[in-house]
Amino acid sequence: MIAPDLQTASAALRALVDASDRVVPFTGAGISTESGIPDFRSPGGLWTTTQPIPFDQFLASRDMRDEAWRRRFAMEEYFGKARPTRGHLALASLYRAGKARGVITQNIDNLHQAAGIRQEDVVELHGNTTFATCLDCARTYELSDVRRKFESAGGRAPDCDCGGYIKTATISFGQAMPAEAMQRAQAWSRDCDLFIAIGSSLVVWPAAGFPLQAKKSGARLVIINREPTEFDSIADLVVRNDIGDALAFLIAH
Ligand code: NAD
Ligand code: ZN
Repeated sequence: MIAPDLQTASAALRALVDASDRVVPFTGAGISTESGIPDFRSPGGLWTTTQPIPFDQFLASRDMRDEAWRRRFAMEEYFGKARPTRGHLALASLYRAGKARGVITQNIDNLHQAAGIRQEDVVELHGNTTFATCLDCARTYELSDVRRKFESAGGRAPDCDCGGYIKTATISFGQAMPAEAMQRAQAWSRDCDLFIAIGSSLVVWPAAGFPLQAKKSGARLVIINREPTEFDSIADLVVRNDIGDALAFLIAH
């Protein structure tokens, strides 16, 4: 069913949540747009203006690493100021109520954790952009430290003491998906009774396979996105309203 209006959407969603014990929320960039972080594919989204830097190019060229860091620091205007949205708070309420064991997310903005979901209960498929790691020795770095070195070197990306490249802790195109996160996401998708895909265009594979997996395993599927998605036809409920509006009723006060 495509909910005809917000009231119907909220009532239907509430009924589905009440009837479920093992809810798995799966989130994409759309849950964070309310916080001021643009998504990728909406009109005006990031990819309408900038092409992403694939992993092999990051490794192959110092100029690309410099450029990657320049872009990241420019994005700090959004990521640095962002606070959890109503959507994040609603999912944190579901989690605290014991309805959801955590969230699976494609986002890299750390906002589920900021809303109160424990780090170990956030399955991050594309990593986290709020800190950096060395690609060789895995040492972690604060972005502010990387930035200081970058700026004092006149806009050159610093390397780790071990000689490895320092990169935000995100997964770039062409970089291997994190094995443990993938396994957990698969297991959670198989073992849930309600899967709610929120603010994802559901076009990036393998991430987009999880709603399908959940549905095949017998879960109900809800899709919340202001635009149609490829999976709307198999969803039990499609909500085309704003995410914050659609989930606000879940926020526990
Ligand atoms: P996407 O940009 O492809 O899709 C976002 C979807 O959310 C769109 O389909 C749009 O219609 C919908 N949407 C946006 N705001 C909405 C709102 N307020 N209410 C209802 N729907 C809304 O994002 P994606 O599917 O997550 O894929 C992009 C990839 O880029 C992600 O995997 C992630 O790694 C990365 N990314 C992350 C962030 C972040 O962490 N906040 C931001 C941009 C991109
Ligand atoms: Zn190192």
